[in-house]
Amino acid sequence: MRRFGEDTLQRTPVKRGEKRKRTRKQKEEAKYRRNSGLAYENSKGEMTHERKRRAAHTCSIRRCHEVITDAVGDAIFSEYWAQQDHDKRVLYVVNRVECCDIKQRRPRSQAETKHPKSVSYKYYFDLNGERVQVCKSTFLDTLGETDGFLRTAMMNRGESVWGTIHEDRRGRQEPPHKLKEETKSAVLAHIESFPSYESENGGEERYLPSNLNITKMYKDYQENDRGPKVSYSTYERLFRLSGRKLSRREVGHL
Ligand SMILES: [Zn+2]
Repeated sequence: MRRFGEDTLQRTPVKRGEKRKRTRKQKEEAKYRRNSGLAYENSKGEMTHERKRRAAHTCSIRRCHEVITDAVGDAIFSEYWAQQDHDKRVLYVVNRVECCDIKQRRPRSQAETKHPKSVSYKYYFDLNGERVQVCKSTFLDTLGETDGFLRTAMMNRGESVWGTIHEDRRGRQEPPHKLKEETKSAVLAHIESFPSYESENGGEERYLPSNLNITKMYKDYQENDRGPKVSYSTYERLFRLSGRKLSRREVGHL
């Protein structure tokens, strides 16, 4: 069921399968709403659902339901979405997930040899100055986040998102070149200007058509003067942070 809500977006019907032409202002509003967890109009002209907190499960291991009461959960949820910023969400999540390497057992098969390192994650909330571990499901349910977002955030955790990822970890160095906000927005807007389609598994990822790759996009950015100059590696880094994915078939050809 689509929700055409009370919001302020003006819209005219768009034909099935057609991409809606949106002004920059409309795109910005959609982006603001998306980052605030509100229902927003996606590039196909469809309204998405607003983010909602889901109650913690009844949990005999970590007592999630007792730790994350409705009041606590609501507070976490609103604090999280009040950030209204994709990078801050990434930062918030990354700083509350700990990753530990699992001691590798002796590989038993070819498949295991290929992926020798496995990791496990622990999920925390900070409650009254104390770190409390919760189950993964409670972590995602409380934030109203998706598994896809979490996975992407963790995948990019080694990246310094313009120095912000590590901002509340003392002793970390800032990256030498901090990208200007203006440059970053220009590149991200450029990346978002390409058509993309939703993943089949209903995750948050959006895939590019198979004829596109980062090299082509970067070339377009450079040659058509789409924004402040950036290096290919910066463009590529921003691409990875944009959440856009290359069509799977194309990945091997880069
Ligand atoms: Zn639990």
